[in-house]
Amino acid sequence: MPRFELTEHGENVHVETVSDSTRLEELCAQWRQLPVLAMDTEFERSRTYYSRLALVQVYDGTEVYLIDPMAVADLSALGEILAAPGTIKVFHSCSEDLEVLYQHFGVRTEPLFDTQMAAAFLNMGASMGYAGLVEKLLQVSLQKSETRTDWLQRPLNDKQKIYAAQDVQYLLPIYHQLDEQLTDEKRRWLFADAATLAAGVEAQMPPELAYLRVKAAAQLDQPGLNRLALLAEWREKEAQQQDIPRSFLLKDPQLIQLSVQNVNSVADMLALDISRGTLRKYASDLLLLLQKADQLPSEQWPTRVTDFRRVPGGKPLLQAFRKAALRMAEEADIAPELLANRKMLEYGILKRMDIPVPVPRLWNPWREQLTAPVFDPLFASHSP
Ligand SMILES: [Zn+2]
Repeated sequence: MPRFELTEHGENVHVETVSDSTRLEELCAQWRQLPVLAMDTEFERSRTYYSRLALVQVYDGTEVYLIDPMAVADLSALGEILAAPGTIKVFHSCSEDLEVLYQHFGVRTEPLFDTQMAAAFLNMGASMGYAGLVEKLLQVSLQKSETRTDWLQRPLNDKQKIYAAQDVQYLLPIYHQLDEQLTDEKRRWLFADAATLAAGVEAQMPPELAYLRVKAAAQLDQPGLNRLALLAEWREKEAQQQDIPRSFLLKDPQLIQLSVQNVNSVADMLALDISRGTLRKYASDLLLLLQKADQLPSEQWPTRVTDFRRVPGGKPLLQAFRKAALRMAEEADIAPELLANRKMLEYGILKRMDIPVPVPRLWNPWREQLTAPVFDPLFASHSP
């Protein structure tokens, strides 16, 4: 069905499948004139390092379009829409979409409006799902999602198409409702956060820093962390090169085991919970890597990751900061996790203790300005 009517839930919407460049360019020329477009993507990455873009859905307020990136030869017009400064792109919970779109088009999606973020700015919950928001704002209950479906299969079946179309069909009405409720100030904060998210996907983490993303890295001592850094860098590069998920090589707990246990031989590795396939292929590489790590002079070891739980006086301060943040969020009428999640609270404390700590990605000036007048005296009153 290249074109069908979406009649579910009473509201009639035409749905068109777009599978050639000429039609896409024609549509993009129209869309460039519009102030706002609702968008969503479907992709697949369970077996690859890089996501495979399977579908891009657009609702322009009149009709829903299902753009097939596997069929359209030239998608560049769509890339221009993503970057078009006069058209607000509305997504729901956009971080994964942004990632896959950036990988595919190499452009920053902006200006950007995320309805999940907007709901948090309106104190409806920090991470409202799409169906929940549709239910709350439009009193429409959507069917169960097709998240387990294979979006790369062709042709897509009718159920998939209906689901994909609904993902954008209600996004635009939701956007209008949310936008209407936002104060100018909150709208500024929202666009600032969304822009930071969009910019963030471009700043790819270098493989040398991949260890920072490994769970439990903060609990390792310096020699262990040094081994982990080399192992994680190796895993990142290998996964990228082979385009397979990191976990197909080594899972995080296995990286940690290799880093902390005294591994000197293949036999030592066999005692760990590592797949035979990985060992057959990489055991000698990994042994060499561990030796190399232990020979590295300590000046070249990676920066220590601060384990907040071990920071003296950290726990009571975190409680005090969290309480204060709750009050501030209540006053501002926004979701508390949006104002300052745990990572941000820890950052606020460590920074004031002069302990080196990376700035959380979404720590935008508005958060600093809002919280500093409360956090500063609070920190001072807790200091000896
Ligand atoms: Zn979707």
